[in-house]
Amino acid sequence: MSGRLAGKYALVTAAGAGIGRATALAFAHAGATVFATDIDAGSLSTLAAEHDAIVPHALDVTDPAAIDALVGSLDRVDVLFNCAGYVHAGTILDTDAASWRRSFSINVDSMFHLCRAVLPGMLQRGAGSIVNMSSVASSIKGVPNRFAYGTTKAAVIGLTRSIAADYVARGIRCNAICPGTVKTPSLAERVRALGGDEEAAWQGFTSRQPMGRLGDPTEIAALALYLASDESSFTTGTIHVVDGGWSN
Ligand code: NAD
Repeated sequence: MSGRLAGKYALVTAAGAGIGRATALAFAHAGATVFATDIDAGSLSTLAAEHDAIVPHALDVTDPAAIDALVGSLDRVDVLFNCAGYVHAGTILDTDAASWRRSFSINVDSMFHLCRAVLPGMLQRGAGSIVNMSSVASSIKGVPNRFAYGTTKAAVIGLTRSIAADYVARGIRCNAICPGTVKTPSLAERVRALGGDEEAAWQGFTSRQPMGRLGDPTEIAALALYLASDESSFTTGTIHVVDGGWSN
């Protein structure tokens, strides 16, 4: 098998839809065996039908025991793409304790548990690439009504840089991706949840993008593939903005 990830084993969370799905496919096309995980097993079976190298595993990233069991059952993980995330909409005063906790559980705790699970094997082999999904709504940019989301995605940047610093001399690289607004099923859901004029809501998301369009999941997958592969072998602890100029 040729390709930028030939012979590599990659674990992707939230691979059933959106950016995770596009990335799982990009990894598979690049030659990796992809352990594609998602809470929604149905979405994984349609994904697995798209490429032979996709191995589906149902996984709720908020379940640390399930994470340990899954990683323990795999021979190796060379690439971890922590893609799962949850958007809570609102200011601090709109954010109750349960929403705050849920945001951290899906967006940050999941990465803590997954990184802890895969790192021992990576360290044993002296090689591994971890790619974490952050957002421009983080320490990069304050976005209105994204209080819990922006806080957790800033934490992802800290988590990424810390892991990179600890293991920089041991063959492990850890980088983060910060997208702007990308057209995915979760965005469509948020538009629907707003109620009212959906066309105007789409227009609102689009008009805050200086390019005048939303991102496509494949545009984020291309960056994830670069960071996962040896093409980025001199890159660690970095925060990659892919936002159509939104934060410029
Ligand atoms: P999406 O809605 O397209 O896909 C989300 C997937 O996550 C679904 O398949 C869903 O089943 C799965 N999922 C939900 N809860 C889960 C759980 N507990 N465990 C495992 N899987 C779970 O999402 P997306 O828009 O592609 O977002 C993916 C990541 O990108 C998120 O971390 C998000 O914060 C980040 N991001 C997205 C955008 C954007 O505009 N779409 C922008 C910046 C960052």
